[in-house]
Amino acid sequence: MSRFLQLVLDLFDSAPPAPKLPTNPPHGPAQGKDASSDTTFQQITVLGEPLAQVLPHAQFTHPRATRRIQLGHTDVAYAFRRSKRRTIGMAVGPDGLEVSAPRWVTLGEVESALREKADWIGRKLVEMGERQQQLGAARIDWRDGVVLPYLGDQLQVLLDSSATLKKNSAQFEEGPPLHTLRLGLPHHATPEQIRDAVQAWLMRQAKALFTERLNHFAPQLGVQWQRLSLSSAATRWGSASANGAIRLNWRLVHHKLAVIDYVVAHELSHLRVMDHSPRFWDTVHSVMPDYAQRRRVLKDELLPPWQ
Ligand SMILES: [Zn+2]
Repeated sequence: MSRFLQLVLDLFDSAPPAPKLPTNPPHGPAQGKDASSDTTFQQITVLGEPLAQVLPHAQFTHPRATRRIQLGHTDVAYAFRRSKRRTIGMAVGPDGLEVSAPRWVTLGEVESALREKADWIGRKLVEMGERQQQLGAARIDWRDGVVLPYLGDQLQVLLDSSATLKKNSAQFEEGPPLHTLRLGLPHHATPEQIRDAVQAWLMRQAKALFTERLNHFAPQLGVQWQRLSLSSAATRWGSASANGAIRLNWRLVHHKLAVIDYVVAHELSHLRVMDHSPRFWDTVHSVMPDYAQRRRVLKDELLPPWQ
């Protein structure tokens, strides 16, 4: 395995896993076996409704779309790539439908797999669209008094240009009911200035907290991490390289400590097991028996976009 192999924990996890279809032969006996071992697949079948009721007259276009398919009344442009996996993979993320397939699967076979899963794809595209809309509604309005999530609590940002607070400095006061962050900015500060000042402060807290939590879990897992960098990737919470470098998304600081700890323990566990095999999850479990619950919270809780 590559020394610098990076493993990612991505936000696309938020959608239930895409159905895995055996691909060779597409309708062979292996399919039944595969389907029955996959709970998501079963769920889809149970929830099945006539296609026309599920698929809207609509068009969904992935920004990196390379192929297009008509599913019922719905026109879906999707990002397609060849992968080393042995099955056709489908995932619906914030950008739309992504499909991967092994090299030996023909495009015709890929398309028939997509038609077979049209119901699931349509549902997920609609759900994802609604989710994105909710996120849009929750957009942060950067002004004096704005409230945002911080460590699972609420943090209110107050502008304070009084002489007691130095220009561009920040002062944190712990709640309850609300934590407050006083920023040394004038009341006429622009939304961008406020956002940047809050971000700078959150990133400083993130770096200090993540370092502390990495040092807490590393000895328990018997691993050594080398370097922490903060990311602001739109689709990843964290990654780990075999050389001990850990990347964590600074926006994790919106979440409760229990959830942050899950991502920290997850990435550190990759320093022992570089994949998501049962052995990997056993490793996570060894230091965090309730990791599945925390993982679910991370998947379910929506964060407002940072803009
Ligand atoms: Zn992972």
